[in-house]
Amino acid sequence: MHLDKKRFINRGTEKENQMTIQKHYEVEVDSIPDCNLCNDHQLAVYDCKTKQGPWGNLCEKHFSIFGVGLGLGKGRKLIIKGKS
Ligand SMILES: [Zn+2]
Repeated sequence: MHLDKKRFINRGTEKENQMTIQKHYEVEVDSIPDCNLCNDHQLAVYDCKTKQGPWGNLCEKHFSIFGVGLGLGKGRKLIIKGKS
């Protein structure tokens, strides 16, 4: 009985951790903004920190060139609200 309870708590914590991680990697928005670096209204895929320092909305291509990665303090993937 005691063991079962412990296992249940562990499972809950694991799920919570996964949700926290997801929160650090994705951001919900009402509409996907344009990439800050494209001049042809390419939709951004990430809200992320660039190698130059400032944050911006970047498409896949510019993210691969200027993005520093995903995670806390680095960048998040843009997700349309209620679509995930
Ligand atoms: Zn771009």
